[in-house]
Amino acid sequence: MHRIALYAGSFDPLTNGHVDIIESARALCDELVVAIGVHPGKMPMFSAAERASLLETVFEDLLVAPACKLSVRTFSGLAVEAARAAGASLILRGLRDGTDLDDEMRMAAMNAAMAPEIKTVFLAASPSVRHISATLVRQIAGLGGDVSAFVPAAVAQALAKRRAPG
Ligand code: ADP
Repeated sequence: MHRIALYAGSFDPLTNGHVDIIESARALCDELVVAIGVHPGKMPMFSAAERASLLETVFEDLLVAPACKLSVRTFSGLAVEAARAAGASLILRGLRDGTDLDDEMRMAAMNAAMAPEIKTVFLAASPSVRHISATLVRQIAGLGGDVSAFVPAAVAQALAKRRAPG
């Protein structure tokens, strides 16, 4: 059986926390689809195309990997619909703490009610990245702080460029 997993999120921007989940997920599936949520009315820091391009830069090797090939796409509706469209039987989510657990359990139950054939799998954040959130990365970068410990180098460069005048 060819197992496809969908990892959905905002990835605005991609952080080392997301990278950790993607690396752990590779042991669980034959194909991993990273799905960038696009929400009308929400103003992201990076456009969906920029977020996709950063993911493809960071995971360049995995796009052509012989095992558990990674692909990147965007979606604007429900994660379960994105999973169905990708042929995925699993939705992956990362867990950092109890707050994530409460939110994610609720979301998983709603998704299970809408799409019982798709199972949610939680992956525990590695201790070294469990404090990282994209929201805090955006705030720190916006205030001129150094975020290089929290994001891949390509993302740190994109954030620095965003702040540079002109
Ligand atoms: P964030 O919650 O940081 O804004 P996303 O909406 O892109 O990021 O989250 C997508 C998924 O990645 C969620 O399941 C979220 O719990 C998980 N995630 C985000 N940051 C981390 C982290 N540092 N460690 C583990 N999982 C994470």
